[in-house]
Amino acid sequence: MSEVVDRFLRYIKIDTESARESDTFPSTLKQLDLAQLLRDELLELGLEDVTLDAHGYVMATLPANIEKSLPVVGFLAHMDTSPDMSGLNVNPQFIENYDGSDIVLNDKKNIVLSPEQFPDLKKYIGETLITTDGNTLLGADDKAGIAQIMTAMATLIAHPEIKHGKIRVGFTPDEEVGHGVDHFDVEKFGADFAYTLDGGEVGELQYENFNAATAYLVVHGRNVHPGKAKNKMLNAILIAMEFNDLLPVFERPEFTDGYEGFNHIFLINGTVEETRVEYIIRDHDREKFAAKKAMMVKAAAFINEKYGSNTVKLTITDSYYNMKEMVEPHPEIMAAALAAYEALGIKPIYEPIRGGTDGSRLSYMGLPTPNLFTGGHYAHGKYEFIPVFALEKGVDVIVKIAELLAK
Ligand SMILES: [Zn+2]
Repeated sequence: MSEVVDRFLRYIKIDTESARESDTFPSTLKQLDLAQLLRDELLELGLEDVTLDAHGYVMATLPANIEKSLPVVGFLAHMDTSPDMSGLNVNPQFIENYDGSDIVLNDKKNIVLSPEQFPDLKKYIGETLITTDGNTLLGADDKAGIAQIMTAMATLIAHPEIKHGKIRVGFTPDEEVGHGVDHFDVEKFGADFAYTLDGGEVGELQYENFNAATAYLVVHGRNVHPGKAKNKMLNAILIAMEFNDLLPVFERPEFTDGYEGFNHIFLINGTVEETRVEYIIRDHDREKFAAKKAMMVKAAAFINEKYGSNTVKLTITDSYYNMKEMVEPHPEIMAAALAAYEALGIKPIYEPIRGGTDGSRLSYMGLPTPNLFTGGHYAHGKYEFIPVFALEKGVDVIVKIAELLAK
């Protein structure tokens, strides 16, 4: 078995599911089990400045093996797995020489990974796939990335003839619950730029993500006994619905893709007296993002005009921004990744991320960080799988980027 597969299997055995509601950081302390293992393995490999800090971040340095002033490049992956599905007792299955038919993940529970529902499978006829047994997620998101980075460091150490500058490695907790870089010390990491290995199929190369905001709407109604309500009652539920009706119908997630942004109502909780509504607002384009926020402000103003000031209170908070603005001023970052893909015969797939990554926040914290593929598919659930060759390709890309940056 190749080293990267070996590592991958070792890391997915450790349950690192993060938690949305938590009083600790990391959100689940079991993530530290993997952090400690990685720290030990990095030390064993011979990396320097190996640290595991109080928040669970693991960092290490592979020193340059060439006398030349070069940028410091970082490689990052996250240790936690999604709380959407258990990551305890992951029991991987190997499907060798996949023939394109249904894969029975779990006979007893009748769980089938079928190319009818998951057409990407068809791309991997003849390949070896690693799947789940239907009871857990696989954890390729993002332990594939960790295994790739670790194996790439081992490869560079084993091959001193490959010249490279200083490399920093970082493993982060709590990405899946949106807190992956809350305590990330960019200065201590000390890289000029970095790449996350957290993408999907081979070839993915992402440097654009949404601009994102959350909108909280509180509607203050006026509850009166319904039998005596005429000309007195203000029904907060109905006013919330009216507010929602003022937003463009076709700017909803179910009607948008590619570069189209949206408003998404995801929570409504209310009574006649008071109703709370929450939305997320997303758009890749800064101006369209601003326009979507302005539309909500206008709708709130209209409602207040109609029913009296302070009927609704709207609060919009920005969450993260499109990393493109931070990555594009440094064309060498994308150029190195592209050159590595090209040298390895990998066709780049640019898809704007319809979400955010740790990299989007890091990019605004001073560390421009686009996202590379890991090769995994259908993350966060029992249908997650990864082809073995894809795991290996990820290693090649890291090694090649390091090599090309030193040229
Ligand atoms: Zn991930």
